[in-house]
Amino acid sequence: MAGLGNIYVCEALFRAGISPRRLAASVAGTRAARLVPAIKAVLAESIGAGGSSLRDYVRADGELGRFQDTFAVYGREGAPCPHCGAPIQRIVQSGRSSFFCARRQR
Ligand SMILES: [Zn+2]
Repeated sequence: MAGLGNIYVCEALFRAGISPRRLAASVAGTRAARLVPAIKAVLAESIGAGGSSLRDYVRADGELGRFQDTFAVYGREGAPCPHCGAPIQRIVQSGRSSFFCARRQR
C-alpha cells in the first residue's frame, strides 16, 4: 500500500482547491476547513467503489491498477484538468510527486 497516502492527498487537495505548495507553508481558514471533508470523501469513494478497488489501487509490482482511471489529478501530468481543462502539473516535494491543477488549486 506504499504511496497510497500520497494519492489520497493529491486527490483531496484537488477537491479542496488547495495547492500542494501550501502544505509546506500554512493552510488556514476556509481552505483548511475544506481539506478534512475532502479527504473523507476521497476515502469513502475509493472504498465504496468496491473491495477490489483498494487492492487494485497499487499492485504488488508497484504499478497502479485500473482504479487510476478515476483519479482527477494523480498520475495525469499534462492531461487536462477534469474541471477547467488546464494541464495538470507535477512538482516533487520531499521525494514525493504532487499532481495538481494550478488554476483550481491556490
Ligand atoms: Zn483545473
